[in-house]
Amino acid sequence: MTQVPKHPVLVLFDIDGTLTPSRNVASQEMIQFITQLQTVVDVGFVGGSDRAKQIEQMGEELVHAVTYSFSENGLVAFKGKTEIECTTITSHVGEARLKEFINDTLLLLARCDIPIKRGTFIEFRNGMLNVSPIGRNCTQAERNDFFAYDNQHHVRQTLIDALKPKYGDIFTFSIGGQISFDVFPIGWNKSYCLKFCQGYDKIHFFGDKTMEGGNDYEIFIDPRVEGHSVIDPADTIKQCSELFLRQ
Ligand SMILES: [Mg+2]
Repeated sequence: MTQVPKHPVLVLFDIDGTLTPSRNVASQEMIQFITQLQTVVDVGFVGGSDRAKQIEQMGEELVHAVTYSFSENGLVAFKGKTEIECTTITSHVGEARLKEFINDTLLLLARCDIPIKRGTFIEFRNGMLNVSPIGRNCTQAERNDFFAYDNQHHVRQTLIDALKPKYGDIFTFSIGGQISFDVFPIGWNKSYCLKFCQGYDKIHFFGDKTMEGGNDYEIFIDPRVEGHSVIDPADTIKQCSELFLRQ
């Protein structure tokens, strides 16, 4: 499966906060910049969200044009337009343990007394579970209210603390956004994608959350890459231009 890369250097990019403003779409300037960069190095995207969101943020044309596009941290891996792997939480953890976890979580959610509840308390994604005490289909106003309530009462942290003793050996838990927390199998961070990146003299990685606890930390410190920390998309263009596009 190892093929000779087009260029000896691969440059991997986090998406949110690195190539785009958080959850937003890439600027025209960024799209032009990546297009130009690809003429001198191989380029890869590695984001935590799903492929549909990645295409929405970076544009379908560019996602197909870059050498690699990894969504869900590489659980869904594409080389050009071709899917090379799709790993699921089910195959990794096994149906029995997953069912046990979902049952225990639903019991804890049922016992959780908060002001209001809506629907979709557990969302099942390819590479993770998203758990929301209020339910994902609440309105924006209800979402804001829950966030304020949670800051006072630590509902999400309490649920995580209750699940950790039994499931801390297989899952990591991370609180993100306003109404939910994510549950990932241990080791499924962005460094997972590196197993697909073979045959390069050098692999660079650019990310905005490279500090310990940030979602770029594991790949940033991985000995297989040279890590670069950026503050925003403009900083990414600046640092990358100096490294790769200087005449
Ligand atoms: Mg980021």
